[in-house]
Amino acid sequence: MNEEKDLKKQIVIAEDDPVSRRLLEVLLTRAGYQVSVAANGTEALELLDQVDAPRLAVLDWMMPGLEGLQVCRKIRERKDRPYTYILLLSARVQKEDLLLGLESGADDYLTKPFDAQELRARLHVGQRILQLQDRLMEKGAELLFRATHDSLTGISNRGMVLDTLRREHSRQVRGAGSFGIILLDIDHFKNVNDTYGHQCGDAVLQEVARIMTASVRAYDTVGRYGGEEFLIVVPSTDAASVFGLSERIRHTIAAKPIATGSGEISITVSLGLAVSSGTAPLDPEAMLGTADEALYRAKEGGRNRSEMGVCEVAPSPAIAEVAPVKAGSE
Ligand code: GH3
Ligand code: MG
Ligand code: MG
Ligand code: MG
Repeated sequence: MNEEKDLKKQIVIAEDDPVSRRLLEVLLTRAGYQVSVAANGTEALELLDQVDAPRLAVLDWMMPGLEGLQVCRKIRERKDRPYTYILLLSARVQKEDLLLGLESGADDYLTKPFDAQELRARLHVGQRILQLQDRLMEKGAELLFRATHDSLTGISNRGMVLDTLRREHSRQVRGAGSFGIILLDIDHFKNVNDTYGHQCGDAVLQEVARIMTASVRAYDTVGRYGGEEFLIVVPSTDAASVFGLSERIRHTIAAKPIATGSGEISITVSLGLAVSSGTAPLDPEAMLGTADEALYRAKEGGRNRSEMGVCEVAPSPAIAEVAPVKAGSE
């Protein structure tokens, strides 16, 4: 039995009457549950608030301190926690009570005195719902990953890296310092495909993505901008540091041929940079335009080089300090 199933076989019971509590405990232990016992709502909430807490709960409605309903509401207020399936127990039988219980966040409701077989069957339904819920969450996470990542290289896709750029820009507007971007394009990549085949081209793209990812800090974002072009968003940095990072990536890629199914392939890359500083911020469009223009200059200048972009519209002091910077071939 895996750990996930184990968690769903754990249950919290909360009941203030000692005889009923013992009865519930024995009944559910016999049914194969690992039972955590609470004598009131406050204790129940503590048990359910623990890390890896049970996901199933049977709560008595009327209890001193926190009532079952209040525990329900507090559990439902919690965000970013796995779902807890709650069954309320009560001697109340009015329809209004049932509705109030469900509105407060209970999943199911059983009136006392309850039938043991019915309780077990209803908790079984609870376990099934928890399993479905978990599968749905896993599927959701998987779909979200697929929607935001490039399937070939595993790095962020164009939409995701552009979102990161916009977020970084808003952060800057709110007062964060300068940040930079690097637009990287593989040199003569068409030749790689033409000479070695598309599959080897794919292997080269994967290795370039791996090198970039290994070269950046944890909070930098590397994304596939399109085809054989990549975009790196570098928060909290200045022009000199972005240029340093760009050159490190360029050297690493040029230094060692990439092993593919059709042998080793030597490649180089050209990089265009743009920096948005606190004193002269650039919006995302202007940054991309500036980096693109710098990349074009890098290609024109002979490829295998980094070029710092100069924004025509609003050159910032941070950029002016180091621009135009050229780095020659190996
Ligand atoms: P330059 O140095 O000027 O950038 O030349 P280049 O050959 O790299 O540029 P060009 O734009 O002519 O060619 C890019 C090539 O990238 C063409 C396209 O077939 C290839 N490409 C784009 N996406 C993929 C992909 O996912 N896999 C492979 N194998 N090739 C791709
Ligand atoms: Mg009670
Ligand atoms: Mg290219
Ligand atoms: Mg290109």
